Amino acid sequence: MEKQIKQVLPSTFAESIYRLDGKPFRLSDRHYLDPIYNGQIEEGLIMSGRQVEKSTTNSTHMANHTLLLENFKGLYFAPLTSQVKEFSNERLGKLYEYSNQDVIKKDYIDKHDSQAVFMKTIKKTNSTVYLKHCYGLGDNIRGITVNGIWGDEIQDIHIDALPVIKECQSHALEAGARMRVTWYTGTPKTFSNTIQQKWDQSSQNEWVVKCPHCGKYQIMGIKNLRPKQFVCRKCEMELPKMSIVNGFWLPLAPEKKLKGFRISQLMVPWITAEDIWSKYADNYSLDKFHNEVLGRSYENASKPFTPVMLGRISANNQRMFNRCEGEFANVPVYMGVDWGTGEKSYTVVSIYARNSNGKFQLLFIKRYAVGEELDPDYQINDICYMMQNYNVCLAVVDWGFGYDRYKKLQNIFGVSRVVACYYSFNQKLRKKYDLDQARWIVNRTQVMQEYVTSIQKEDILWPGADKSEFPWLYDHHLSEQAEYRKSEKTGRSEDLMYTHPEGQPDDALHSCVYAKLAEEIFRETGSGAIAFSGVDESERGGW
Ligand SMILES: [Zn+2]
Repeated sequence: MEKQIKQVLPSTFAESIYRLDGKPFRLSDRHYLDPIYNGQIEEGLIMSGRQVEKSTTNSTHMANHTLLLENFKGLYFAPLTSQVKEFSNERLGKLYEYSNQDVIKKDYIDKHDSQAVFMKTIKKTNSTVYLKHCYGLGDNIRGITVNGIWGDEIQDIHIDALPVIKECQSHALEAGARMRVTWYTGTPKTFSNTIQQKWDQSSQNEWVVKCPHCGKYQIMGIKNLRPKQFVCRKCEMELPKMSIVNGFWLPLAPEKKLKGFRISQLMVPWITAEDIWSKYADNYSLDKFHNEVLGRSYENASKPFTPVMLGRISANNQRMFNRCEGEFANVPVYMGVDWGTGEKSYTVVSIYARNSNGKFQLLFIKRYAVGEELDPDYQINDICYMMQNYNVCLAVVDWGFGYDRYKKLQNIFGVSRVVACYYSFNQKLRKKYDLDQARWIVNRTQVMQEYVTSIQKEDILWPGADKSEFPWLYDHHLSEQAEYRKSEKTGRSEDLMYTHPEGQPDDALHSCVYAKLAEEIFRETGSGAIAFSGVDESERGGW
């Protein structure tokens, strides 16, 4: 019996067992879902408009894995707790609760199984689903081992969180169902958004429709819209529903391992041409129409830094300093360190001090990008040398990735000269000290915004004469994007989020932000005063 079920096509299995809103689940006229249900795709992406049954597809697809495979471990994640609860209770939970002839409750689930919001288990197959929200960089999802990952609403998830979550699959081939499957779904926003970045890396399957009148193959868009019907973009005759239903997927980048599918409201069988027209002509803004109807990105992101702004803070008569001399001989010096992984991002150290005009001047900046520089021990030794050489009074270093390196530095120089900074995406307070972990937790958006302002106001000065030695400092600023995204707390308001396109790192920017934080913390707490000689408490008040 069990063997027979497994040989059935997953889409057929789904239609035979699930019920939706009291009726048997049907995939009629939804051929575009065939590869998603039956294609045995290891890594997939659905970039779609709204109201195209995305949650239904996620839930039936996920439920299929838990019922058809033994020992399957799956993870569902979405940005907000409310979204996770909704999916768990209203979607996945109801599929298990109401099936044809109650077959899931009778044959698959035992009374000892968990049907909790954040974990569901299936006795018959020994499968488990975890459901979690993804705040910030996905730290709360670390540590579980799963075969399957379904990431939903990824347009509101930071691009850097995805590799963190993918780590949950690192033992997938030896554990659980001994296989790996990943699906990302979401609705596009801007071109720098997470989902567009994943789309760009994907096979980019587009639904192609053939005109029955002139034979033109086409991907449907605005040119196919009329008030009462869809038309061929070439001959302008009506495109009948069956031509749209019987389209086919065409991959624009077939060699890509990540299989991407764009599903628009123009493809689905239950949304009419009139509906689409009224959204286009009357009701929706152009960005909303592109995002939610066409399932395409639309630009509304802004660049916080421009070449002109960076040009203004670059003084062509200034060079980097090899040690603190002249006006910098007797002032506090600050260091910021952002650790890189050595693959796409590199460790960057920047050293700043206030010059005699009161500007926060970059004295030295270094990126560890080649050969022995990539070795963490080399970096530690070099940073130790710079701490002494520049008489740094306080260094703020990234807490996240380079934790062991940070601890080493702190053991050498003490908590008064080396502190860590942890970026929070949802902490209300601008910054607070976390005694347990001996680190500062700062509101990422707020400190970034202030850093942007200090560059706009030209409070920062870079040694422009040595520009050619650190072109990446400029790149790391120019790649930064400011975007409005759904609030992680309430889901109601839109929060400003700073992000960067994948493959265009921003480590140098963060090392500068940390150096600026070092100055702020030093001025508030006085920590690090032991670092330089000849200045006592009474003098320090004057800076
Ligand atoms: Zn035609």
